[in-house]
Amino acid sequence: MGGIRGSTRSSLSAVLSLLRDGSGCPVCLEGPRDIVATLGGSWVTLPPLTPLPRYVCLVARRHAVEPFELPVAERSAFWEDVNRVAAALNRGLRPVKLNYEIHGNTLPHLHLHVFPRQPGDRFEGRPINGAEALPRGSEDVAAILAALAPLTAPPADPYGPLKDNAWRETAEIDGRLDRGEIDEATWHAEMARLVVPAYLAAETPWQGSGKQGSADDWEYARSHIAHAIDRAGSFLDVGCANGYLLECLPRWTPHAVDRYGLDIAPELVELAQGRLPDLGDHLSVGNALDWQPRRRFTYVRTGLDYVPRHRRRELVERLLRYCDRLVIGVFNEETDARPTETLLRAWGFRVAGRSERANPKKPGMDYRVLWIDRAAR
Ligand SMILES: [Zn+2]
Repeated sequence: MGGIRGSTRSSLSAVLSLLRDGSGCPVCLEGPRDIVATLGGSWVTLPPLTPLPRYVCLVARRHAVEPFELPVAERSAFWEDVNRVAAALNRGLRPVKLNYEIHGNTLPHLHLHVFPRQPGDRFEGRPINGAEALPRGSEDVAAILAALAPLTAPPADPYGPLKDNAWRETAEIDGRLDRGEIDEATWHAEMARLVVPAYLAAETPWQGSGKQGSADDWEYARSHIAHAIDRAGSFLDVGCANGYLLECLPRWTPHAVDRYGLDIAPELVELAQGRLPDLGDHLSVGNALDWQPRRRFTYVRTGLDYVPRHRRRELVERLLRYCDRLVIGVFNEETDARPTETLLRAWGFRVAGRSERANPKKPGMDYRVLWIDRAAR
């Protein structure tokens, strides 16, 4: 690319015919150059020639000419990267304005230019001319890397991957599945590798079920799952981890619940069996996508993120076959949007009830639970 901003000049139609399917694409053939960070949907690159200081170029990790051609998971990851990089540059460099450009006329592998604008820069009052590029100095690289450090630093907290902000790691694994680089069994193994070791090493029972903080934090974030329980019955916790939710359940609901657990990780089921010896053979190892229950349940609880994106609808359909009420959550969402509910509705499910609580640690976010009744389809 010689800096992805085109130093090659050739006719647009010739370039497009060569590159549209990716077969002659230098990014795909040789890999992008000047990478300083790998994010969920893009590489962050600093081309050596730049029309303005502090210029950054995000290159899509999958070949696409137009953004809409990306599969939805990678498209979301790409735009999320753009927003996160822009926010980090804005925070670290304090430009008066950020400019965003997508062209792809000389190199039609999706890439997006981000230009932090400063008063008195050489294009003040007019568009940036990419052909007027100058060598980038080492001081420029250092300033950009400092601004981007929050995006690229490894998580300082050893339990970081347990938290719901492990989006970078999970987007990476999702991306590999979408690109056909790994199969679903490997997807599950990789996801387990993110959380199981930390669950096993947890110092508190709630950390062993994926929740940081204090006992009160756990109660506040999770106990409203019990709002879905409106009568006595059986309750299967899919993704039961160390069993702590099942352990707390009788405290959270006045109704008698016969408790069952399922987890894909044998080590966690063993841990749960140790914690809850009374439940005996109610705790099973299995993948909810193919597990065959020997009974029906009044309630089944799950998280949609326990399976690859394209299997989530199937997970909901499958679990509803053997329960009266499917409880989904707890998940974290922005207060003013309901993407999970929107998605479920688009799949033809009617949300029968919900419970939500403001996340005190993340302003503007809610802890949410919702449930679907078998009869309400
Ligand atoms: Zn390409």
